[in-house]
Amino acid sequence: MSSWGPVSKSQLVNPDWIQSLNEILPPTDHFPTHLWSIIDNLRKGIPLNKEQGLSLYNLQDLNLLGYLANSVKVARYGKSVFFNSNLHVNHTNICRLACKFCAFRRGSKAKDAYSLSIAEYIERIRPFQNSIDEVHTVGGLHPDWGVEHYEELYLATKTEFPHIHIKSLTAVEVQHIATISNISITATLDRLREAGLDSLPGGGAEILNDDIRDIICKGKESSQEYLDIHCAAHRLGIQTNCTMLFGTVESPEHRIEHLISLRSLQQETNGFQCFVPYPYLPDNSRLPEAQLSSTSEILRMIALSRLMLNNIPHIKAYRMNFGDSNAFLALNYGADDVDGTVGHEEIMHEAGSTTHLSDDRTSLAQSIIDEDLVPIQRNSLYSNFKKYIDDDDDNSGVNLPMARLEV
Ligand code: SF4
Repeated sequence: MSSWGPVSKSQLVNPDWIQSLNEILPPTDHFPTHLWSIIDNLRKGIPLNKEQGLSLYNLQDLNLLGYLANSVKVARYGKSVFFNSNLHVNHTNICRLACKFCAFRRGSKAKDAYSLSIAEYIERIRPFQNSIDEVHTVGGLHPDWGVEHYEELYLATKTEFPHIHIKSLTAVEVQHIATISNISITATLDRLREAGLDSLPGGGAEILNDDIRDIICKGKESSQEYLDIHCAAHRLGIQTNCTMLFGTVESPEHRIEHLISLRSLQQETNGFQCFVPYPYLPDNSRLPEAQLSSTSEILRMIALSRLMLNNIPHIKAYRMNFGDSNAFLALNYGADDVDGTVGHEEIMHEAGSTTHLSDDRTSLAQSIIDEDLVPIQRNSLYSNFKKYIDDDDDNSGVNLPMARLEV
């Protein structure tokens, strides 16, 4: 028999994680000399600079990179792995843009173009209402939907399902809604928050470099606009996630600059909850020069993210994109969060993902336990937690004491 019981944040999150990291890591002279300045910065909580990020990216020993990132993860959260239960509902695939990597969007006249009415949107959620606490909704840039449409959508959703957190809209959707409604970004976010929008998912960051954006997503918001929209949300008290789409045409330098840009905004606003890096899936879309990222490249980016983003609390292993086996491996390379039970998802599956969709949290918990980790169900804002209790297994408690790892 298994059940889920409450657990407090103080049992899960270690505020003195830098001190714990010092206890976990062996003396600096046990590491290769070219890593000493990096180890020193990690020990002192000093953000790594671009050159240090590049050194880590180029480290041939992936296990060592993973060891460092996992040490930070263990110092912060012990063996805990966080997940939540959500449903992806994409309200429309009609989009006025045509990002080159996107297999989801359609022109308005395409045979399989769709726009859900508000009633249809509600009915998509209804069958899952008792098994989820979050709906994740992003979509195309619909030519006719202004702020009033989204106000109506969120109000109707909250009326029907007051317990469900609405995580919705990428930065470019916010910008599009503001533009066609002829109001500012801040006014748009403020009105949508009043109507029930709880947080932003962070999608659409791609690579925060305008030359790369011109190649892969021409017409999308600029790098600075992405950051400004998230900054506006944070200033209104709306928490957001942030993302990176890697493996299109960018260089390792672009990836590291991207991480540093996010870290700098976080330094100002502290509004990012979680960073979600994911590789481009080349099937079905239009960037022939891009290759599918290998498992080692995915693990390298997870580990690098954990080490560079010292002020963003959570790093997610995005199962919907890179599959269960990579995601569970990533939990040993610095990721502490995994997308949980997902009842339905379209965008990654249109692009070629074959990740199994299920709302069975017990089997997800078992997969986490199989990695010798502890599954913790969280709410969207990481403020309420439940731990998995397997009555047949006395090894299912929370584990914050920091075990020393071997290099
Ligand atoms: S990524 Fe978003 S903005 Fe770009 S084409 Fe797809 S739906 Fe439209």
